[in-house]
Amino acid sequence: MTQRNLFQENISESEWDDVRPVAPRRQEHWVASVIFPKGVDGAFDYLVPEKLAGQLTPGLRVVVPLGKGNRETLGWCIAVERKEMAPSGRAAGTPANETTGSRQLKELLGIVDERRLLSDKMLRLTRWIADYYLCPLGQVLEAVLPAGVRDHAGTRLTSILYVPDEYRLQASGVGSRECGVNQNNSKLQTPNSKLKPEARNPESEARSPKPVPPLTPKQQHVFDVLLHSEVPLTATELSRAAKCSMVPIQHLKRLGLFRVRTERRQHSTLDEAQVPRQSPHELNASQQRCLETICGTLRRNEYRTFLLHGVTGSGKTEVYIRAIEEVVLSGRQAIVLVPEISLTPQTVGRFRARFDHVAVLHSHLTDAERHREWQRIASGKVQVVVGARSAVFAPLPRLGLMIIDEEHEHSFKQDTAPRYHAREVARRRAEEENIPLVLGSATPSLESWHRATAEETRVAGTNEYRLLSMPHRVRNLPLPHVSTIDLRSADRSGHTRGAIHRHLHAAIVESLDQGGQVILMLNRRGFSTHIQCPACGEAVKCPDCDVSLTYHHSADVALCHYCDHRIAAPPRCPKCGFPGIKYHGYGTQKLEQEIRQRFPDVPLLRMDTDTMQGHGAHERALTQFREGKVRILLGTQMIAKGLDFPNVTLVGVISADTALHVPDFRASERTFHLITQVAGRTGRGDRGGQVIVQTFNPDHAAIMAASQHDYQAFINSERPMRKLFGYPPYSQMARFVVRGPNESTAQAFAGQMAESLRRQAAETDLACRILGPAPAPFSKLRGNFRFHIHIHAAVGIAVRDGIADRSPGIANERMRTVIRLATNHLKAPTDTLWIVDIDPLDML
Ligand code: ADP
Ligand code: ZN
Repeated sequence: MTQRNLFQENISESEWDDVRPVAPRRQEHWVASVIFPKGVDGAFDYLVPEKLAGQLTPGLRVVVPLGKGNRETLGWCIAVERKEMAPSGRAAGTPANETTGSRQLKELLGIVDERRLLSDKMLRLTRWIADYYLCPLGQVLEAVLPAGVRDHAGTRLTSILYVPDEYRLQASGVGSRECGVNQNNSKLQTPNSKLKPEARNPESEARSPKPVPPLTPKQQHVFDVLLHSEVPLTATELSRAAKCSMVPIQHLKRLGLFRVRTERRQHSTLDEAQVPRQSPHELNASQQRCLETICGTLRRNEYRTFLLHGVTGSGKTEVYIRAIEEVVLSGRQAIVLVPEISLTPQTVGRFRARFDHVAVLHSHLTDAERHREWQRIASGKVQVVVGARSAVFAPLPRLGLMIIDEEHEHSFKQDTAPRYHAREVARRRAEEENIPLVLGSATPSLESWHRATAEETRVAGTNEYRLLSMPHRVRNLPLPHVSTIDLRSADRSGHTRGAIHRHLHAAIVESLDQGGQVILMLNRRGFSTHIQCPACGEAVKCPDCDVSLTYHHSADVALCHYCDHRIAAPPRCPKCGFPGIKYHGYGTQKLEQEIRQRFPDVPLLRMDTDTMQGHGAHERALTQFREGKVRILLGTQMIAKGLDFPNVTLVGVISADTALHVPDFRASERTFHLITQVAGRTGRGDRGGQVIVQTFNPDHAAIMAASQHDYQAFINSERPMRKLFGYPPYSQMARFVVRGPNESTAQAFAGQMAESLRRQAAETDLACRILGPAPAPFSKLRGNFRFHIHIHAAVGIAVRDGIADRSPGIANERMRTVIRLATNHLKAPTDTLWIVDIDPLDML
């Protein structure tokens, strides 16, 4: 669709004159810029009818005619401006829209929302996201505002009784109480409803007082109850309040003393969970120091990003809570982002135990619940919002502080459009609000560490982030001892059957004997991770995904972990028919079977996405473990994060290598994070704790650093590699994925795209490397062949084609310009789709 379709091309003068009286000369009119959530890109101008001019502000949704058919379409108003128009409503060169020329603007049909859903600041934030992540603004708006909020989920239109002004004035002798009440009965609810803007505001003209006609005592009583009610009442509510039947109410309505308007009401109210109060800990010296630094920035109303590097169990959460207490005291509010998986009642409980009004935003909320929480937050009644990624958009009216715990977690990046990273959005929002942002982690991402420490990122002697350190656990508890078991040299002759080395077995026995609990991590779900024929070599793969099928024992099926394609577990090779087909590789199900055989009487629980289906399953499992009803907890990375159980005296990592050989330049970093995090689950109580890591790569830098709790050692080994290969943080990166059901078509288009990017980069003189197209590591998913292209725009290092930009921001901006120009005119063949991911984390 081109912008031309916006304008009514063949409108007759008389038709136009119907809508707006002929203007004798150039006149100023209100013109609204409107964008659409789907289909069309970019902003379109519409003429705002005089009656709506006073009500329309940016951030409201509107209904406008779109396209040749003038389909009534829902859009977002993002700006309202006075613009000069030629006679008969022709736009006089509106700058927002070059093609406006002298065409006639169509008229906006109506306003949908009663109140604006987005403040100016949030609108600016969404624009930044659209610009930075190269995503249409309409899509960003839809992501920022949950569907439940847009659709008013959990509310209904209710008929409210009111006393009209003329009787109110007479009866009470005071001024109108109706001002500010939105006469919204004519507001649009759907884009399809027929609009009659003229019918709006039936009560708008002032009326002169009228005497109240004579009433029976009963009627007078009912009238007085409604007149003096502090809150709006429905007929039923009034009958209850006045202890009367419907008869006098109906009578008063007939007399015109009561009228009815509709109002949107929430039908459920929320009881805030009551949690016993907890008194604060006495802070240790490093906690105190970090808190004071953060609070200094708070008091000066300054933007600053802090990177709080604190080992597991160093008391970071206590620092967050203290800082938020300071924020709340000054009448402001805070957002705490945690990974979805850590959003357990235990985590939330720590905030509830210290603040009266906490809102929790997690993915299991229904639309109605989400809407209710959103309204409560927007009303300013909430002190702290605790939530996963999208809570970064929580509409707190007086935001004072933002915190991102476990900032290195990849789940803070959204993997569908808009592909935003909550950390970058939070940084932007904090800057806009002049407030501090605290990023906390025991294992900060290399990108954040770089911004906090690197020489290269200093401006005027200051790093972009300020580093705060808490190098010790609270109460001087030691970090657990970590030992590795070298699986290469493991004596395989009969001693090590299955996945558990005899040293690990012995340690489990000892831990259990001493009354402790055990956590075992294996980051692969299912039973056997691949199925292969020893006779012909055929591996059983998903026909749509080109990925090995995983055998699931419980259902006796072979399952694709990407598209859920499933077949009955093959007893013989599907290709050559050989009956001895082999099931290889260990998943958590097989581990569970082995542990049950080794420790038949020990209560055990498996946690992975197969067992943790449904809301509350996760928490029920953790409660059983906390109460000691379960002695061994085994699972995927799900159990590695954030759990705080003092009785865990042993953590076993069954295979440290699962993430190490993935074709992703962050494979080492992920491995380091995962081992460090899971190791941090032990030694949190007085009993101490130890960690045993089984690996085929005991000398790998990431595994060695993790076993010595040595973050700096990991950084020292990893940074030079990234620099050598020009990976982030030494470059700004974008990734393209082109996919389609036809392999050669997708490949050809990816080639065309890479070509266009290379040409544009050369023209723009961008110091960058463009890799690909190459088949993506997952070269076929759900029936689509996938190709990817990587761009690395160098930052602060020399590359073949010249010296890179020194500032990451400028390099990124120039890279995005190249992308825009290079992709502007590319047209993907039918069926072929492409996406661009800025600062990608997913390389597969
Ligand atoms: P982190 O988030 O850094 O892993 P937590 O904030 O979870 O650490 O703290 C670990 C444990 O120590 C928690 O049970 C917490 O209540 C406790 N704690 C925090 N600060 C102190 C302190 N100053 N003195 C004693 N215990 C503390
Ligand atoms: Zn599949």
